[in-house]
Amino acid sequence: MIALHPAVKKFLGTQPLKLLIGGEWSNAASGATFETRDPGNGKVIATVAAGTAADVDRAVAAAGEAFRKSGWATLPANDRAVFLHRLADLVDKHREILAQIESLDVGKPLPQARGGDIPNVAATLRYFADLSVHTRRREPIAVSGFEARSVRLPYGVCGFIFPWNFPLLLVGWGIAPALAAGNTVVIKPAEDTPLSTLYFAQLVKEAGIPDGVVNVVTGLGETAGAALTQHPGLKRMSFTGSPEVGKLVGEACGRNLVPVKLELGGKGAAVLFDDIDVDHAASALSSALTLNTGQVCCTATRWLVHEKIYKRFVTRATKALTSLHIGHGFDPATQMGPVVSEKQRRRVLSYLERGEHEGAKVLLRGGPATVKGHAGGFYVKPALLGGDCNNVACREEIFGPVAYVLPFKQEDEAVEIVNRSTYGLANSVWSADLARANRVAETMVAGNSWINAHNLFPHGVPYGGCNLSGLGGGVNSPETLLDYLRPQSVVRPLG
Ligand code: NAD
Repeated sequence: MIALHPAVKKFLGTQPLKLLIGGEWSNAASGATFETRDPGNGKVIATVAAGTAADVDRAVAAAGEAFRKSGWATLPANDRAVFLHRLADLVDKHREILAQIESLDVGKPLPQARGGDIPNVAATLRYFADLSVHTRRREPIAVSGFEARSVRLPYGVCGFIFPWNFPLLLVGWGIAPALAAGNTVVIKPAEDTPLSTLYFAQLVKEAGIPDGVVNVVTGLGETAGAALTQHPGLKRMSFTGSPEVGKLVGEACGRNLVPVKLELGGKGAAVLFDDIDVDHAASALSSALTLNTGQVCCTATRWLVHEKIYKRFVTRATKALTSLHIGHGFDPATQMGPVVSEKQRRRVLSYLERGEHEGAKVLLRGGPATVKGHAGGFYVKPALLGGDCNNVACREEIFGPVAYVLPFKQEDEAVEIVNRSTYGLANSVWSADLARANRVAETMVAGNSWINAHNLFPHGVPYGGCNLSGLGGGVNSPETLLDYLRPQSVVRPLG
């Protein structure tokens, strides 16, 4: 087992961990706390302030004050970019500490946090810092008889609610464009994984970003989260999480006419034609399925395999999935960690049970897993199901390492099955015939189509969903920065 970094011990040393409001660390007004656990052994790691509506009120007020008075909103973009670059450098400098905190709280293998999640936060901050410098804020418009221009200005206080699967990476994807545009933010992290956001908040202070520009209210969804979505002081809202809660957030924002971005769940498909390298595709999709223990919104959980390669593909994937080392995130041999909580473990197991009950064929039996020396951890084994798609395990998002494998004969039949889903987040197509791959990529209905790979997130193209998977244009593209700037026309008659 990898030893805990002294800075992580120090960070966890003074509990409860506090809220950051207006640059000050404080307990929740009610004094209430909640616990966060290590999913690898079920033990409590930390107690954390459980903010409620009163704390959200204070945070929105502090963010509003910072928007009006700190100078953040009116700084030239290149000066704001200096702060965001400084923050990105601090994220890099503290990478090991942040990675350990993330691994401990989520259960993911430490190398995944160290090599993936945390560097991606720094890259996103830099991407939007630089983009904002090159984005035109003032466009003169040719209208005869008038001097007219369109200006783009920050909205004000933006609320952010995040899930627990990629806690800090999603904070980066969410707040970087909002901050680069000159807004101030209030963040509500998931109650299962608040730790990396709180450590990151220390770095925000160290970067010299003015007090109140970034505020963090930890707490439960139904209290702190709901209070944030309903707050009259909000000018924009962004939510990443389940479609069920996303609808509640959308309703609350609708009542106050607050523009909202919803990044929600998925039931992604991979379509595999018979001209592919079967070994490679089986290994790549098995890795994608077990990345973060399947707790990835866009992962492929419906594998549509051409009938000619179906048997071979299932054999290879079964081999890849059964040879995987399951263990604690701090064990260097671990390839797949636990799921995040006992609740999530029950959810995965219940889908397996209900799927089988409704007629799914078990191709690889999953179920609970035990890891020596880590009793109490929330471990599950990967599973493969087959048969027709008329059951709950094939239709709904499970959010665990479970894939449904379906044979197909014709291209249009495969596309029709993909598009039957109520979600629309991400799919992939695998074929040596690029013309066919491109055609299928554009006919599968979703925010993202990938070719001969799954889970690709380059900055520059939007990552978002349609249908039950979300609305609002996605993240990580030039348009995302514009989403955090409101247009305003300035016109004067000439002569
Ligand atoms: P969730 O919807 O249960 O919770 C997400 C957040 O919402 C948490 O911070 C929670 O405290 C808060 N919340 C809960 N009830 C609330 C309420 N009534 N009002 C306001 N906030 C409330 O989701 P989860 O279980 O944390 O995450 C898993 C889901 O997130 C999956 O569906 C997954 O696909 C989705 N997800 C989507 C993306 C994406 O980019 N599209 C990324 C990651 C995760």
